[in-house]
Amino acid sequence: MKYDDNGRICNRCEEYKTWDNYHKQGSNSRSPHGKHAICKQCRSKAYVHVPRTAHREQEGDLYMLECAGYYKIGITTNLESRLKHYETHNPHPVTVVKVWPGRADLERDVHDMLGAFHHKGEWFQPN
Ligand SMILES: [Zn+2]
Repeated sequence: MKYDDNGRICNRCEEYKTWDNYHKQGSNSRSPHGKHAICKQCRSKAYVHVPRTAHREQEGDLYMLECAGYYKIGITTNLESRLKHYETHNPHPVTVVKVWPGRADLERDVHDMLGAFHHKGEWFQPN
């Protein structure tokens, strides 16, 4: 038997728990007492997850490049290939000013701070 007047068996952990252990469900519920089929404990576990974007942002390195008086702030997981890219698509030498490893989360703050010097895209000109 799946449920009785006092409680029900949780669909996830398959333990018998009283109705107090189940969240209320919407009006279209077919379950007695209008409760969910998964207990509160299992439901809270099911909804704890790290947002994908936050995860991705922690992985990259924040870097600052200089090229012909312009500075670029960006994030990358592969600075070497990113550098090659800029050197191929650019007549001027590109130098790495600074790298903050694993601090991709700082990119937005740095862009905000340098807003006054913004030139184009991710490029900045301090003078
Ligand atoms: Zn459960």
